[in-house]
Amino acid sequence: MRYWISLIIFVFAGCAFSAEKTSLYDFRYWTAPNQTRIVIDKEEDTLFNITNTDKVVIISFDDAEVLSKTFSNIFFKDNRIQKVLIKRDKRTIKLIVYINKNFKVKHFTLEPNAKYKFHRLVVDIIDLESQVKIQKIETTKDIKKVKNSTQKDQKIILVDAGHGGEDSGAIGKNKSQEKSVNLAIAKKLVAIINKNSDLKAVLTRSGDYYIPLTKRITIAQKENATMFISIHADSVESSTAKGASIYTLSEKGNNSKLSQQLEKSQNLVDQFGGVETVIDNDQFLKNILSDFSRKDRDMQSLNLAKEILNELGKIGPVHKKEPQKANFVVLKTPSIPSVLVETAFISNPTQEKRLTNSKQQKKIAESIYKGILNYYKKLE
Ligand SMILES: [Zn+2]
Repeated sequence: MRYWISLIIFVFAGCAFSAEKTSLYDFRYWTAPNQTRIVIDKEEDTLFNITNTDKVVIISFDDAEVLSKTFSNIFFKDNRIQKVLIKRDKRTIKLIVYINKNFKVKHFTLEPNAKYKFHRLVVDIIDLESQVKIQKIETTKDIKKVKNSTQKDQKIILVDAGHGGEDSGAIGKNKSQEKSVNLAIAKKLVAIINKNSDLKAVLTRSGDYYIPLTKRITIAQKENATMFISIHADSVESSTAKGASIYTLSEKGNNSKLSQQLEKSQNLVDQFGGVETVIDNDQFLKNILSDFSRKDRDMQSLNLAKEILNELGKIGPVHKKEPQKANFVVLKTPSIPSVLVETAFISNPTQEKRLTNSKQQKKIAESIYKGILNYYKKLE
């Protein structure tokens, strides 16, 4: 008898559950120069549909409800999104996004991971007008480049602020986000480098948005960069680990536990860029492996790493005295010296404080700059 009662309860509970609406937990928007990314946290089996005309994108969800605490996050505006409206009927929720520019839409879904517990729907509104603009700038830049190069041989340094947008990077004990610290240091480094008329620094990203790892490399190639520096902050479980480290590329990867963990987390980040970048990756690797100047590049990267580490050691603790090797996708820039700087441990509250302090960020940037100069001096 007891068995039958519990079975009946179970069946009823099951019915009640299936009649329940699926939740849309949160909404985030990221504005990049060429696109606006909309991220919606949803349940695994939430049914959605995306349609568009030339003015609006409609994202509809079946049997869904929006959490009241995140409701206001829906309404976002940037230079592309004029407004967002929400329409509900008994069965569906429709997000109607009014777009100001010529655009196309792409979308993909992401599964939960260590940082995000929800399934996510990512909708990219790709700005077709900005691409025309970027192309125009590039062609005028090309003309200028030819003019400049006859006047002076400027060395172009690509400064990459790690992570961005949906990918926060490591989070400090006091909730600082690595992506913001990286960007602040990268911007300061660019400003310092650009005071030197022999050098020109270019950022991979200048705001809070995500760029796929392989795209960061193609930016370096497009800009004719002769050096690639990626800025990051370290993080481990322990809150006492401290100091700067520098990584150069090793095709085999590294045996040490920390570098293995790092490799995994750094390279994993690429999933934020969507499915296509992961597929692109293999062809990219093949190209690199056939790159004959690799050995020379590895040597130059190591020299550059030593110089920067030496300078960082003068202003603060160093985690490992020698540059480390790891297999980071972002360091696979063929034929130019490339290093990844872990400026300090954001997981250590004292170091986190330092990383978020503007004066200290400038100090770190100045040390990296001095390292770059020392490297160039020894090349002469
Ligand atoms: Zn990082």
